[in-house]
Amino acid sequence: MSAGAILWVSVDKEMAKERLSFEQSLSSGAQSIASGYAQYLTRSIDQMDQVTMQLKYDWESSNGALDLRKLVIRGMFTSPQYMEVAIIDRDGSVVTSTASPSTAKAKYAGRSFLAWHRRNISSIVRISAPEADAETGKSLVRFTRRLDSPDDDFDGVVMVTVTSDYFSAFYDAAALGGKGMLAVVGDDGRIRAARIGNAISYPSKATLTQTPRFGLPREAQAFPSNGETWFGPQWFADGDRRFVAWRTLKAYPMTVMAGISESEQIAPLENKWRTYRQIRAAAEAAILALTVVLAYVLHLVERRKMRLRSVQAAYRLATEAGEEGFYMLHPLRAEGRIVDYRILDCNERGAFLLGKGKKEVLGQALSSHYQAEEFARLLEVYGHAMERGSYREEDEFQPIAAPAVRWVRRKAVRSGGDLAVTLRDISDAKEQEGKLIRLANTDELTGLPNRTWFMKSFEATIVRAQEKQEIVALLFIDLDKFKNVNDTLGHATGDKVLQEAAGRLRQALRPTDHVARLGGDEFTVVLQQARDDDEIVRIAQRILAALAQPFHAGAGAMEVGASIGISVYPRDGMTAGKLLKHADIAMYSAKGSRRGTYSFYRQELYDALRTRINMERELAEAIDADQFVLYYQPRVDAASGELLSLEALVRWRHPLRGMVPPLEFIPIAEGTGLITKLGALVLDKSCQQIAQWRAEGISPVPVSVNVSAVQFQYGDVHELLRRCLRQSNISPELIELEITESSMLGEHATIAGRLAAIRELGVKMAVDDFGTGYSSLSQLQRLDMDVLKVDRVFTVDLDRTAESRVLFKAIVSMAHALGMRVVAEGVETQAQAAILRELGCDELQGYLISKPVSPDETRSILRRSRQLISPRNEERTLRLATSG
Ligand code: C2E
Ligand code: CA
Ligand code: CA
Repeated sequence: MSAGAILWVSVDKEMAKERLSFEQSLSSGAQSIASGYAQYLTRSIDQMDQVTMQLKYDWESSNGALDLRKLVIRGMFTSPQYMEVAIIDRDGSVVTSTASPSTAKAKYAGRSFLAWHRRNISSIVRISAPEADAETGKSLVRFTRRLDSPDDDFDGVVMVTVTSDYFSAFYDAAALGGKGMLAVVGDDGRIRAARIGNAISYPSKATLTQTPRFGLPREAQAFPSNGETWFGPQWFADGDRRFVAWRTLKAYPMTVMAGISESEQIAPLENKWRTYRQIRAAAEAAILALTVVLAYVLHLVERRKMRLRSVQAAYRLATEAGEEGFYMLHPLRAEGRIVDYRILDCNERGAFLLGKGKKEVLGQALSSHYQAEEFARLLEVYGHAMERGSYREEDEFQPIAAPAVRWVRRKAVRSGGDLAVTLRDISDAKEQEGKLIRLANTDELTGLPNRTWFMKSFEATIVRAQEKQEIVALLFIDLDKFKNVNDTLGHATGDKVLQEAAGRLRQALRPTDHVARLGGDEFTVVLQQARDDDEIVRIAQRILAALAQPFHAGAGAMEVGASIGISVYPRDGMTAGKLLKHADIAMYSAKGSRRGTYSFYRQELYDALRTRINMERELAEAIDADQFVLYYQPRVDAASGELLSLEALVRWRHPLRGMVPPLEFIPIAEGTGLITKLGALVLDKSCQQIAQWRAEGISPVPVSVNVSAVQFQYGDVHELLRRCLRQSNISPELIELEITESSMLGEHATIAGRLAAIRELGVKMAVDDFGTGYSSLSQLQRLDMDVLKVDRVFTVDLDRTAESRVLFKAIVSMAHALGMRVVAEGVETQAQAAILRELGCDELQGYLISKPVSPDETRSILRRSRQLISPRNEERTLRLATSG
């Protein structure tokens, strides 16, 4: 026999071998796919089983309060397979659903699942036959589970609706090729899902032309529960022949089929065999090459097998890649008590959560994974589940081998005599939660604990102090000039100041003292175990000193300072709330007296505050009852002493307290916002007064009206002015507005616009109390102010120090250069008046000329003003006039 003949034989043999190996590979391929598919499906249904079970428990324990939309918002049921998750009542109406609310009453009333669950007193999950969705045309499958009322009556169902491809999403072209087949057949002889190739075709008729029955040997078309064989072209819509393997699920009444197409898989081989035959006809010379080809082909087949095996492994992994660890635990008893559990089964994740591989876990005692003490507690937890049927909690049991799994959410459900447990690692979520709690307790800007934290911790401190009979001091700290900084230099600078202040506070304190930021520029410090007032004072002084240092934020150094109010437990209050209130009151008094000081709480402070609060209330009533009168203070020409104008100064004619000066109530009105109403009242009164003088035949002089910064900012002064002028029908030159420098702070364009609009009406503008605020002369020029009223503090020293004269002279020259008239406020002596005339000051106002006087007195001044003499200061004014 020639070598060629041997080769012929061997080629035939190889071909036969290859055919065999092809069939084997088809078979093992189909089998492993079917097994993998069965596993996948079991897992998928398990998942639904768990989901519906969980929902059932959630629903029954929520007493009807479960809101599925809320779960969706929390990210549950958002993966694409979930079409709808719903609770349906016994009449078939949707109670709550993840889908957009349906108004259809008794939407599911006629559905077979409802009737089925009504009939079957069983908590088993039911899987519906697929149905076409009316809206989307998609094929849907519904998982339903019966709900029981407290007395075990039918109470509706939990429904989870998925698309059919939830079942067949398993399809993998690498294993099945382009014409592979997957199907799920129910014991009821109905196909739940089926597909050929990647194109999913529904309804399933388009895939399978007949439905095989599995596990029912006596019926026609019957097959055993598991098996594999060739299915002829009569079975398939595309007339292909397929090698099909099937597996009936152990836990559910379903069988999966996986088929590999012959035509698709065999075609490449047929080609090869044709080549072999040609080669066989060819010369022996080709033999060597042939052997190589064969070797290659065999190699290919081998590779395919390998690939199938790895695919199979991959599927197994995929089916187990869920987030949740899953265990079946079998209780081990000693003397009737459960002392341990054996791990009957678990998924990879479950093993991982124990810090082990699956092999190391199966069959093992659960106790071997935990410290004895921990396990004893865990035993208790699972004991509850065994007793009650289910148990759920978040806990911190740490398996020995998995220290990174710090927090788990544990669900345990009794199933038969065993316990089904799912675990989810929620360590990250817990950490996040912790972070959120920290965030909720921390002031973002300064990093100090915030108000929330302070309230909680201070309460706890007081409780502890009560037990241990300790003294606790609460320091309420408020920055003095913070508002100024914020208003003038902007919020960014303000923020920096607050941060810096926080840092200084931390440094000034002992580690046992707690500092928190209540909000704004308010801080609290709690001194635990304070010895006595002296110690508290020392710390308060240290804090004041720290905050008195200039702050360097933004452009330059600025002084901010602080005031501190102190309340002491138990002296000033027994509760956290009282102590905080009293420290706050004490702080007010510290601010009121001299800034930059501390003040202990005293009962009188509380009384003073009460007065203030009362005044707020009374003030509102006073405005409605019009208890206000305007007094007028003349302004005279510095040189001639001639009356030029009057400043309107408001007085509160209090029914009990008599005439209340403005400094006692204007700040309160500003604080409460009443100032807008009060300011309007004053302006209105001024205009009416002028109109009345005119009506009485008195030739009027201009009246200047004070406008508070708060009113200027929030009240529409322009509109108010326009209305008052119109109503009183007086000339706008008869009104002048006095605004303080603080009114001019803020966004330049806005302020300038507001001022321009007022000036447009023909009303002059004066800067009040110049020198006490922050403005600069150049700013005043840009704002086009008419009059500069220099504050009393510059007048006081004129006849005493040379510096004050130099300063005043400078102000006058600059104001004149900017086209403003200068008024000296608070002129009380002849000497001052003489110097002011010398310095070129234009007008004088002050007690020397006249105190603010009542409307009646004002009228007589006006009557006599034609003689340019103020009656009460006649002599002085005369002297003033002659010496000028
Ligand atoms: P102001 O605008 O600086 O008014 C001048 C204050 O200085 C008046 O006090 C006046 O009586 C007082 N004064 C005048 N000449 C002298 C003097 O020679 N020596 C001294 N020591 N004081 C003098 P008054 O009337 O108590 O007003 C206090 C402040 O109340 C005013 O200061 C003004 O800021 C505010 N105010 C008064 N009326 C109103 C008003 O209608 N609206 C607003 N927003 N504020 C008003
Ligand atoms: Ca004024
Ligand atoms: Ca003034």
